Amino acid sequence: MMHVNDYTLNVPLPLAVARGQAATTDGHALHLRVEDTGALVKANDAIPWQRVWEITGPTIEDFALLTAYHDRARWNLWWKRFDVGRLLDLAPSLRRRTVTVLVAPDDPDLHEKLLLGDSLSLRMAVPLTDPDSQNLEELNRVISYVLITGATRPVHMDPVSSMVATAMGHQDLTLWDFADENVHRNLFVDDAGQVSLSARHLTTHPYGPLGELNLEDMERGTSYQRLSSYAQELFVSRSECATCRAYPLCGGWLRYVDRGYDCEVWHLVLTALLEAVGATERTRKLTRHR
Ligand code: SF4
Repeated sequence: MMHVNDYTLNVPLPLAVARGQAATTDGHALHLRVEDTGALVKANDAIPWQRVWEITGPTIEDFALLTAYHDRARWNLWWKRFDVGRLLDLAPSLRRRTVTVLVAPDDPDLHEKLLLGDSLSLRMAVPLTDPDSQNLEELNRVISYVLITGATRPVHMDPVSSMVATAMGHQDLTLWDFADENVHRNLFVDDAGQVSLSARHLTTHPYGPLGELNLEDMERGTSYQRLSSYAQELFVSRSECATCRAYPLCGGWLRYVDRGYDCEVWHLVLTALLEAVGATERTRKLTRHR
C-alpha cells in the first residue's frame, strides 16, 4: 500500500538527532521541541535541517542569541517575563512572518501581552492543549478584539485568527488542527521515544516506540483507527455534535476524550464567533454593492 499522508513529527531535539531515529520517518517534516538553546547550537551539524519545519521552546530572549538560525525554520517562542523594554528591543527580530510569540493560557498578563504584541505587529498565539486549558472569558475578549481590529488591519492571534479564517471559509480547519491534533498530519514523540497523536493521547492512543514505527502498520492499528473514524461515528450515532452549529469550528474535539464533557460555554463562544463573522461578511457584501 502506498503511503499518502505527510506527517509533521513533533519530536524532542535529542531524539531528532539520535543516530537511526531520523531514517524511521524519512520524508516527513520535523517540529523540534527545544528546551536548551545551547544544546541546539551544539547539535547543529547532526540536525537534519532540510526537514525541520518548525521549532518550539526557546524564549524571545533566547532567539536574540540564535541569529545564525533565524531563517532555518518557523519559530514558536515563549514570552515569559513581562518586560516591556526588553520586548521593544527584541521586536525588530520578532517581527518576521516565520516567528510566533507564545503566551501561556494561564499567564496572569495574557491579555496585556497579546495586545502589546499585536500593537508591535507581532504574530501572537496562545497554545491550545485541551478543552480546560483555555480561559473562555479571555478567549471571548480576544475574539472581539480580533473581529473589531481585524476589520481595519491584519491581526494574528491564534487560535482565534485561525478560527476566524475558518468561519470566513478561507480554510477548513477545526480545533483538532489548532491543537496540532489532526490525526492525518500530526505525530508526537515524548522524551522516551513513545509516539502518539499528541502528549495527552500518549497513554490512551499509543502508536508505539519511534524506533520501531512503521507508518502503514500504525495507520491500520486500533489507536489510529479510533481517532480517524471519530468524525464519522459522530454522524452515524447521531450524536449531539452531528447537529451542533459549532461543529464546523469544533469538529467534536471538545468531547473526544470525555464524551460527557460540558461544552456549553465553548459552544456559546464558537457560535457567537460564527455569527459575528457571518454578520460582518454580510455587511461587507452589502457595502460593496452600494
Ligand atoms: S461544541 Fe460540543 S456539541 Fe458542538 S461539536 Fe463541539 S463537542 Fe460537539
